[in-house]
Amino acid sequence: MATAPLPERERAPMMEKLVSLAKRRGFFFQSSEIYGGLQGFWDFGPLGVTLRNNIKRAWWRAIVELRDDVVGIETSLIMNPRTWVASGHVKNFTDPLVECKKCHQRFRADQVKGNRHEEDGGEFTEPRQFNLMFKTFVGPAEDSSAQAYLRPETAQGMFVDFANVLSSTRMRPPFGIAQVGKAFRNEITPGNSIFRLREFELMELEYFVPPAEEMKWLEYWKDERMRWHQGIGIRPDKLRLRPHGKDELAHYALGAFDVEYEFPFGWSELEGIAARGEYDLRAHQEASGRDLSYFDDIKRERYIPHVVEPALGVDRSMLTVLIDAYHEEEVRGEQRVVLRFHPSIAPIQVAILPLSRKEPLMATAQRVEHELRPHFRTEYDDTQSIGKRYRRQDEIGTPYAITIDFETANDQAATLRARDAMTQDRIPLGHLREALRERLHADKEA
Ligand code: ATP
Repeated sequence: MATAPLPERERAPMMEKLVSLAKRRGFFFQSSEIYGGLQGFWDFGPLGVTLRNNIKRAWWRAIVELRDDVVGIETSLIMNPRTWVASGHVKNFTDPLVECKKCHQRFRADQVKGNRHEEDGGEFTEPRQFNLMFKTFVGPAEDSSAQAYLRPETAQGMFVDFANVLSSTRMRPPFGIAQVGKAFRNEITPGNSIFRLREFELMELEYFVPPAEEMKWLEYWKDERMRWHQGIGIRPDKLRLRPHGKDELAHYALGAFDVEYEFPFGWSELEGIAARGEYDLRAHQEASGRDLSYFDDIKRERYIPHVVEPALGVDRSMLTVLIDAYHEEEVRGEQRVVLRFHPSIAPIQVAILPLSRKEPLMATAQRVEHELRPHFRTEYDDTQSIGKRYRRQDEIGTPYAITIDFETANDQAATLRARDAMTQDRIPLGHLREALRERLHADKEA
């Protein structure tokens, strides 16, 4: 992961403000906080879980549902430990670990350069390889024969199940197997809030292709993935593709790219896309003794499919979405914080707000909310002043708010307020659904 870190004093405020907003509004907070938290573990609040679900749904829709060449599976978090020997993780899934001789703090050797700690004159031990897989035991005996690992990626599930998917579906290369699920890495230095976690969630696609087509599909998927990030609203000028240098590539990989985003702490990896050759299937074929090749009966040839793998963290996508949406603006002398979420992923798409807690305003507002709820992600809110409620909806990124006021009983209309333009339009109650549908659609296309 190549980053160009900004000086610490410049990067801190934006991340601090975002993390504070995330906690205040219920996007994410430290896990088991009342016990002091646990480094690298975070919980997602009501808005956070909705945002994550929307991101995962957008990914699943683009990768699985809108294509006829990809199927989805869900594999277990703990697999037969032989999986991880065959895949190379037991031997090679390591980071170089160094320890400060003075304070005994531990660091990833490749991340210590330019670190404040180094500048302060810390002297480090020689690096040793530290395996990032969490170990556990399966069954009642805690001996080495019962030792297993929490999966550090979901990909091996797709490789190990390759033959089962091939025989139970009509899929033929080029085709893909996709999965969304939790993964665990005992990262030496978790940090930057939810950027680097020890428990995180992955969205991975293993795309199996005839060997000669591997580079073509690598090109295809890098374009496709860049488009997807922009499709959920990420600004194109904040995204770039970085090809891996020879020194970064795994020995079996033919090529790889990182999709990078310009985070407040510098350009960093958002998603990895790699051409993995036949490495994984061949390794599992050799270790298991099971045939993982494919016979093309038109060309009459047998081969082990090559793999192109786009792998994206849900948490990292969520952090990117939050950072990209975060705006501070001056409006009539007042500061407003607004999350400009794309309407397809905004946790709430429309808020319904009675101007006061008087009847018939509340009853009308509740009726409107019930009518809109099956069609949009809605929220009814009658607390606090209307100004505070608008501010809250801006801060949680709700694209539209409908206000039911004292005029509503007379004109059977309500005010539709737009988050970004802050326009207010009077819309007949009977047209609200159509007006919202049109506007949300127009915003998506914009
Ligand atoms: P690094 O070199 O930064 O440790 P990596 O290159 O090994 O990471 P991959 O194995 O390529 O990471 O992971 C694919 C994707 O999974 C990353 O692009 C990122 O979105 C996500 N990811 C990886 N590790 C973490 C983590 N510790 N916390 C959150 N997301 C992660």
